[in-house]
Parts: sequence; C-alpha cells; structure tokens
Amino acid sequence: SYIEENSASPVKLPTIKFTKLFINGEFVDSVSGKTFETIDPRTGEVIARVAEGDKEDVDLAVKAARQAFDDGPWPRMTGAERGRIMMKYAALIDEHIEELAALDTIDAGKLFSGGKAVDIPNVAQLLRYYAGAADKIHGEVLKMSRELHGYTLREPIGVAGHIIPWNFPSSMFFMMSAPALAAGCTMIVKPAEQTPLSALFYGHLAKQAGMPDGVINVITGYGPTAGAALASHMDVDKVCFTGSTEVGRKIMQAAATSNLKQVSLELGGKSPLLIFDDADVDKAADLALLGILYNKGEICVASSRVFVQEGIYDEFVKKLKEKAKDWVVGDPFDPRSRLGPQVDKQQFDKILSYIEHGKREGASLLTGGKPVGKKGYFIEPTVFTDVKEDMMIATDEIFGPVMSLMKFKTIDEAIKKANNTKYGLAAGIVTKNLDVANTVSRSIRAGTIWINCYFAFDNDCSYGGYKMSGFGRHLGMEALHKFLQVKSVVTPIYNSPW
Ligand code: NAD
Repeated sequence: SYIEENSASPVKLPTIKFTKLFINGEFVDSVSGKTFETIDPRTGEVIARVAEGDKEDVDLAVKAARQAFDDGPWPRMTGAERGRIMMKYAALIDEHIEELAALDTIDAGKLFSGGKAVDIPNVAQLLRYYAGAADKIHGEVLKMSRELHGYTLREPIGVAGHIIPWNFPSSMFFMMSAPALAAGCTMIVKPAEQTPLSALFYGHLAKQAGMPDGVINVITGYGPTAGAALASHMDVDKVCFTGSTEVGRKIMQAAATSNLKQVSLELGGKSPLLIFDDADVDKAADLALLGILYNKGEICVASSRVFVQEGIYDEFVKKLKEKAKDWVVGDPFDPRSRLGPQVDKQQFDKILSYIEHGKREGASLLTGGKPVGKKGYFIEPTVFTDVKEDMMIATDEIFGPVMSLMKFKTIDEAIKKANNTKYGLAAGIVTKNLDVANTVSRSIRAGTIWINCYFAFDNDCSYGGYKMSGFGRHLGMEALHKFLQVKSVVTPIYNSPW
C-alpha cells in the first residue's frame, strides 16, 4: 500500500509533493512570497506550508486561462480530442488513488477507506462521464416562422472560476471542473484553505495528461482575498461556488458589481428525512444515521432534521440509540472508524456550541454531545429528541454529526414541516406506500428527493438547490450546460423576401 511504503511512523502519512500555486502549467511561489499552514484535524498539527495566493496571483492565473481560452487549442480542438485528454487524466488519477485519498484524509479528516473505495475512483469516473459527452455538444435546427434558416450553437462560456469547499476536496474539484473541461472552458480553481493538498496534485496530473498550459490553474489561499479576487475579476466569465449561504451572497454581489459574470451557487441545507408508520424501523434507523453521520455530518445534503410518524416513534428512538454505538469515532486511517475528525478547530467549536445551545433551549440528548479524545477535532454522534421546529439546532445548518429528531401525525403535517426551512437541497422519504412517496416527493421544495435511500448519488443525476440552497446544478448533463452558452445563427433562405 502507498501509505505503508511511504512512512515509517506509526501513523502513516503521505509525502507532500506540491505546495506551490499552479499557474500556466508551472508550480510557482505566490507573488508576495507568503505561505499558510494546512492543519491535520486528527492532531491539530501542521502538515505543510502552502503558497498563499492573493489578487496578483489570481490576475496571473486569469491571464493564463484567458490566453488558453482566447488563443489556445483547448476550446478549438474537437470534442473527441478533449475527451481523449480527459480520459488520460482519469487514468492518471486511477494510478494515484491511495495517495490522493490519503491527502484528503490528512487535510480534511475524511475516512481513508471511503476515499480509496469511493471518492477518488469516482472522480476518475466523473472525468470519463464528461469526456464521453465532449463530442456530443450540439445545438438545434429551429422551426422559424418565416423564410429563415435558424440554428443554435452551444459554445463554451469561457474562463471559469471554481471556488471549492473543504468537505469533499476531490469530488468538488471535479464536479465543477470536469463539465467545464468537456465544454471547452479554461479555469482557475480556488480550493478551500483547509484542504489545498489534493487540488495541487490534480494540477500536476493535468499537465501529465497533456492538458494544455493555462487550462487548469490552481490558486491556494483564503476566501476573502484569493476567492474574492476571482469572484470580482473582470476577465472571468463564470463563477461556480459551493459553500456557505453567507459567502454565496458575497459571490453574487461581487459578480453584480464587476462584469456581471454568470454565477452558480450550491449552498447550505437543512434537509429533512421523513419516516412514515409503514417503514421498516430497523432500516429507517440505519438510513437516518447514515444521513447525518456520513462524512461526520460535513455534507450539504445531510439529513439533519428527521421527522418520524408517531406510530413508530418510540421504537425508532430505541433503535437509533442502539445503532448509534456502531458509529465508531476514530483515526480516519483506521478501517474500524466510521467518523473521523471535523475539518478544523473552527468547525469543531461551532458544532459544540450548537450542541450547548440545543441543551439550553430544552432539547434532550439521546446520544453523544461531547468531544472524543484529547487531541484533534473528534465529536460523538449526537442525536437530540424533544426538538421544537424553531430551535436553532432545527433551523441552522450545523454541518456536523448532530441530528434533530421530531415527530409528526399526518402526511400534510410532514410536508409542512419538511418545507419549513429557508433551504431546499434534498429530502428523504421512507415508506412502502407509493401514493405517499409520490405525493410527498412532488410537494417538497428541494432539488433532490431520495425515496427509501439516502445519498444515492450518480454522475448522471444532477443535484442542487431550491430556495436559499442556491441555483445551478452539479452532475449530469445539467452541469455541462451551465458551462455552455447558446448562440442563435439566422440567415434568409435563398431568394426569400424576408
Ligand atoms: P465558506 O463558504 O466560507 O468557504 C467555501 C469556499 O469559499 C472556500 O474556498 C473559501 O475560501 C471561499 N470563500 C470564503 N469567503 C469568500 C469570499 N468572501 N469570497 C470568495 N470566496 C470565499 O465555508 P466555510 O467557512 O469553510 O464553512 C462554513 C459553513 O459553510 C459550513 O459550516 C457549512 O454550513 C457551509 N458549507 C457548505 C458546503 C456545501 O457543500 N454546501 C461546503 C462547505 C461549507
């Protein structure tokens, strides 16, 4: 195994190879020469110092991306050729699965087993999915109402800026970049300051794959400096942001006051899981725990509000308490662990303060509620009962392993409660009754509905927000279209008196 071969220490760490900005195909220091620390959330210790990009570096990266778009081969080559290079990129990622998974484990506290088996292989698959679409981008012939021949072309939007969160450093990198690459765009990726390491590795692999210089640039650095410079840049045609609703608002403002660049936003959530009386209680409890504990609750579509119909409520609570014990908190490299540490101290403190708030507001702790261990940012799987809909633990996105459990009587009440949120990213329904499943899925205002499953992601199945969870979609052909714009071309039919 890569990890075992590359470290003699009892906790085996990957070697950090890339810490500089990746601009125009080269690794370079930041203009200011500044660097920042990236921290291992298992211990709170520094992993490495990484170049701190700011406005001047963003300017250089945008210049490279602009040139690669305006004069370079990438948007001009055939879709099939772009697809071929993307396939090569995917193959190189496959060759480095363990190393990339390990980087996300030490940077974000993600389970190594999950990265190795799911996240990183799927990143390669995502590139292949869009590589296969790159030569199938076309417009339409229009049925004009006069003697005119009209058709549309779908053209790449241009230079894209991707601002990435820390919870899925690899998946998010490619959910934004892979469709943009297929469309023929060039890009600047700004990973979250908590998780810069895998992003720089992806820059290196892009070059190895034969991606022309300037097509993918990676600027590591902070949000209010490097991120803001990208969002307000006059030469960026589109900004694609995933993160908090608060920062999403700033991104839109920056776009509006600069060049009116296009914006897509994938923001916070407070997704409901509705469990009806006819559900298999055992399976429903498993699903509810998965929905809030997967990736230690640091997932925008987490089912943080669980509503259970009164007939099975007591039995459900009992099961949940028993089963929560199976969610072992521990070192994310240990295959027995199901929850690693929260991403950083700030997130750790924020989650614990929400737990304290929940207790003060009168909710009862069914399980958990405390940190685990003396170092690092580990928190117990936490379930609150006796939650009222207006408590902060039921309204705010906590982004941690904290479930708010509530009760309902009727379908109408369930729908009303599910929709009682400013967010609308996802929802889950557990029932065997098709009428209930159909009625509820059409009534919930959210971008994804999972029936008798949760986190059933697929590269072909787009997801994104209703309401304050944002707009624009990740994955599927929807995501490809957000990097394309439509051009109409019209000409008179020969000799027609138009
Ligand atoms: P954030 O929104 O602050 O950060 C996300 C990205 O935006 C990072 O790359 C960051 O550097 C950048 N950014 C921050 N301020 C910016 C600015 N002014 N201009 C441009 N870019 C900027 O998220 P966070 O502080 O890391 O986490 C806070 C909360 O965000 C979490 O608790 C959670 O609620 C939410 N979040 C949601 C997702 C998601 O997938 N929807 C992911 C991460 C965080």
